[in-house]
Amino acid sequence: MGSRYADAFTRFVANVDIRAGWDSCWPWTGKLTEKGYGEFQVNGKKKRAHRWIVERTLGYELERDEFVCHTCDNPSCCNPRHFFVGDAGDNNRDCVAKGRHSRGFYGNQYTRSRVS
Ligand SMILES: [Zn+2]
Repeated sequence: MGSRYADAFTRFVANVDIRAGWDSCWPWTGKLTEKGYGEFQVNGKKKRAHRWIVERTLGYELERDEFVCHTCDNPSCCNPRHFFVGDAGDNNRDCVAKGRHSRGFYGNQYTRSRVS
């Protein structure tokens, strides 16, 4: 289409290994952060890959105190089916409750933890 830059989503998909299947983990194959999260560069900014795809899917940026937690304990995983969005408290508990506070990224209707 003549674009000089690959669309961010195209680049994202190119860095995710989805071969294991729809419900399996999709490991990020690109650069990882120290903590093992996928590192994705968009518009010159480094983003965490899993967070980016959530924001992209939701259509808005998450608040600083909204965290994308993995239900699969696999930080590099980028399968949105394995995420839920929690607040800092959820994150501090490291999602130990595994989805107990899940606001169902898929399935149940997603609702924000607070409206501001
Ligand atoms: Zn996963």
